Amino acid sequence: MTKFIFITGGVVSSLGKGISASSIGRLLKNRGLNISIQKIDPYINVDAGTMNPYQHGEVFVTEDGAETDLDLGHYERFIDVNLTQYNNVTTGKIYSSVISKERRGDFLGATVQVIPHITDEIKSTVRSIGKKKKEKVDVVIVEIGGTVGDIESLPFLEAIRQLRNDIGKENVLYIHVTFVPYLEAAKELKSKPTQHSVKELREIGIQPDIVICRSQAKLSKEVKNKISLFCDIKKEGIIEATNVESIYEIPLIFEKQGLGDLIIKLLNLKCKGPDLKEWERMVDKIYRPQREVRIGVVGKYISLKDAYISITEALLHGGIDNNCRVKIERIDSDKVKDYSSKDPFKGINGILIPGGFGKRGIEGKIETVKYARENKVPFLGICLGMQCAVIEFARHVINLERANSTEFDTDTPFPVLDLLPEQKGVKIKGGTMRLGAYPCKLEKNSLAFKSYKQEMVYERHRHRYEFNNLYKEKFIEYGIKFSGIYQDLNLVEIIEIPDHPWFIGVQFHPEFKSRPNRAHPLFKDFIKASILNNK
Ligand code: GLN
Repeated sequence: MTKFIFITGGVVSSLGKGISASSIGRLLKNRGLNISIQKIDPYINVDAGTMNPYQHGEVFVTEDGAETDLDLGHYERFIDVNLTQYNNVTTGKIYSSVISKERRGDFLGATVQVIPHITDEIKSTVRSIGKKKKEKVDVVIVEIGGTVGDIESLPFLEAIRQLRNDIGKENVLYIHVTFVPYLEAAKELKSKPTQHSVKELREIGIQPDIVICRSQAKLSKEVKNKISLFCDIKKEGIIEATNVESIYEIPLIFEKQGLGDLIIKLLNLKCKGPDLKEWERMVDKIYRPQREVRIGVVGKYISLKDAYISITEALLHGGIDNNCRVKIERIDSDKVKDYSSKDPFKGINGILIPGGFGKRGIEGKIETVKYARENKVPFLGICLGMQCAVIEFARHVINLERANSTEFDTDTPFPVLDLLPEQKGVKIKGGTMRLGAYPCKLEKNSLAFKSYKQEMVYERHRHRYEFNNLYKEKFIEYGIKFSGIYQDLNLVEIIEIPDHPWFIGVQFHPEFKSRPNRAHPLFKDFIKASILNNK
């Protein structure tokens, strides 16, 4: 029987529920259990693809091309699994499915209601995740987005409450992540918000088995006793989660407090003991770097850290592999204008331009590429970053004045990036870009091949515009190497400038495939090249 762990959050948002869920996944995986993980987002969007990264952070893309919540990125990185569209459920998805069933006549005669129709749909979606994999799934971890008390998450909480009755108490575990604030004036940690939050959960019929208490300082015995008494949770089930320098330490912190064994006991799971040696070695490497490197990330969403979270993580992974601490400087592309008077890249060892949409900030990114190309600073351009490199090269090396992508200038005389004919008629915005993994064939004599060490690679995409092949010969003539091609449609995937220490632009998003213990080859080599650029 597949077991379920439901993770809810209380008191405030942004507690790092996703990281708690991922860390629990890691603890169970290291006990040899086969696990799956799902994120439930109570918003009405069908998927995260149509949301602004300013509001919601990065859109994470899965192998099968789903545009999902950024927590799926944490899940993939911590648990080292490839997830799919089924691992992210939203209110929008649930309602569209119920409404189309109603139109089809599946409920003929009935009044379609939140209970039981919506809750049944939620339950069957949650339960089906365990059946999607070929091998038997031992544990499914389900994280419910939002905070307990929100109106929009109520149907989900009701559904998970019912599920414990449906499949048996011994097969379901509830974990609540809360916040224990430190009051400076009283010099005390306060347990009351946690008590209230658990009370709110109990009002809807859910008694948590475990609480994970996020706090600034360690919980005293008294605070733990209080939470245990008022929330009716055994002391061993009060887990503390204080702030840490690296999120990758959290599984180890949980393990030390016995969380892994407790889950095994409560769910009556049969498995081997934990093997966290490799993970410990990795965390040790993170905390003991031998050098430091500064990477400039030039984008327009820099005010929100989560907007480029997979890029940030992938850079750190590249650092781990090179025994190096990566310091990331987020640089606003709108501010990179005329760098001849003031050098915005002073002390920066490598420059990365991430993906993005829309015209704003483009000219600053093009200036950034010019700087990296002329000053021989290692450069990695991702998706829009690669497209900016193409525009820069066209304008300043080939002298195609006003060259541009038709995304930013529909009247450009030199559309070096353009829509494919099949994208030209697309009117609907949701889920219609080139999405998910596509094969890319590498040229043997290239930087990319040197990194990947294989000829065929599969990388994830999320874009509409492509390099315009009408200009290919001109670019080659002026020294660009097209080192990766999607052969079926003859699309450019990777560009390089050979006359440069390390300059690569990729149309895809390598950051989504990087893992802390298996850095993506391009990030690994980008950091390596940046270390060497220490003038
Ligand atoms: N806006 C560009 C396109 O649609 C790049 C997208 C991206 O960087 N993800 O092609």
